[in-house]
Amino acid sequence: MAKKYSSKINKIRTFALSLVFIGFIIMYVGIYFRQHPWVMTTFMLLGFLSIIGSTVVYFWIGMLSTKAVQVTCPNCGKVTKVLGRVDMCMYCNEPLTLDPKLEGEEFNEDYNKKRSR
Ligand SMILES: [Zn+2]
Repeated sequence: MAKKYSSKINKIRTFALSLVFIGFIIMYVGIYFRQHPWVMTTFMLLGFLSIIGSTVVYFWIGMLSTKAVQVTCPNCGKVTKVLGRVDMCMYCNEPLTLDPKLEGEEFNEDYNKKRSR
């Protein structure tokens, strides 16, 4: 089964966005428990927490973006950001690498984990 890769920044962004939606859904479900104030409060708090969480994740993306290396994608010509040794273009999902040794090799996200200290 081929794994679908996408840019790390895009992935985190999708995650943050889904956290917002999950938060709203949880709060919405809480409204159905109006007769049980404790249940409703719990749901509201959980929903609130996941919205806060997404704000934190968005902040984290901002921090990551400043550390990411800007490169011009050879495939679509747009400027994209590379996180780690290998990443995907944010626009066309072209695999990009900062390590010349990995150039031409098949894209593998595991390269990021093999970083030696
Ligand atoms: Zn591209």
